[in-house]
Amino acid sequence: MGVPTLTVTPGCLRCAVLEVCRFAIPARVLKVLFLASVLLLLTGKSLNAGDNLRIESVPGIVKQGDVCLIRTSGLVSPKSVHAEFQGERVPLAPGLQNGIYEGLIGIDLTTKPATCEIKVIATDASGRSYSNPFILKIGKGIFRTQKLSLPSSMVDLDAKTLERVNNEANRLKALFQTFRDEKLWKGAFIRPLEGKLSSTFGMDRIINGQRRSPHTGVDLESEAGTPVWASNSGAVVLADDLFFSGKSVILDHGWGLYSMYFHLAETLVKEGDRVGRGDVLGRVGSTGRSTGPHLHWAIRMNQARVDPLSLLKLSKHLEE
Ligand SMILES: [Zn+2]
Repeated sequence: MGVPTLTVTPGCLRCAVLEVCRFAIPARVLKVLFLASVLLLLTGKSLNAGDNLRIESVPGIVKQGDVCLIRTSGLVSPKSVHAEFQGERVPLAPGLQNGIYEGLIGIDLTTKPATCEIKVIATDASGRSYSNPFILKIGKGIFRTQKLSLPSSMVDLDAKTLERVNNEANRLKALFQTFRDEKLWKGAFIRPLEGKLSSTFGMDRIINGQRRSPHTGVDLESEAGTPVWASNSGAVVLADDLFFSGKSVILDHGWGLYSMYFHLAETLVKEGDRVGRGDVLGRVGSTGRSTGPHLHWAIRMNQARVDPLSLLKLSKHLEE
């Protein structure tokens, strides 16, 4: 691959050639250089500012429902850098080390196992844009089946309740489609309470003998009244009582990342509040469609339903 990066402007190339000329290059080397230039012109491959751009994902192979970190290196003082994944723009932030840019990508639990392309697009100081592709391998997630028995009033809904449920679903959909340009989260995400994991992410749910929508969060068991902490800093965009999720808090962490805290006994924040990592959002309860005190904790990443535990696993790679 070519050495030039964003630091290599046409001026620098000219300097490099002059530098070499001073040392009286042998005719054989000049001939090779000339032929290489002709080849570059013929193949249309110019010395590209992106040639030195390296891209990696953490983990290297992701599974359905995972969050992965995209990290680029080799960029020197770009004006802007972002990635594109499945038609969505993913902003990349500068890391602590020079030339590192990184961002998070969510793989929805129903994404087909395959390889797919992530494009990293950078613009240099002169406004010239270039892009490099990266192939991400998506493996199959292993999701168990959960059988539940619930009162029929919580499953077979009357027309009025169904209307309420549909309105609430539309409200949440509109919320997750809202992209906040400001990145509010910083560094590691924390578990919102110490409780033991009682239901994993992605479970196929059979309720009263009928297959229903999968479990798109994790359930953390805890005594009623236990404080629930914000997993990272963000803005409270919902603090309300909903039919399925009961008393609920949703945080917008910016850049398409949302965290949800459901079935609370009480909410201790209001919409519009800004919270920091570890701030108390409410207390564990069993409101909404719930069989006992627990916290349902869920994450959306650019509308993809992802496993909160995969975000925790990544946290050691996220810079403070
Ligand atoms: Zn749950």
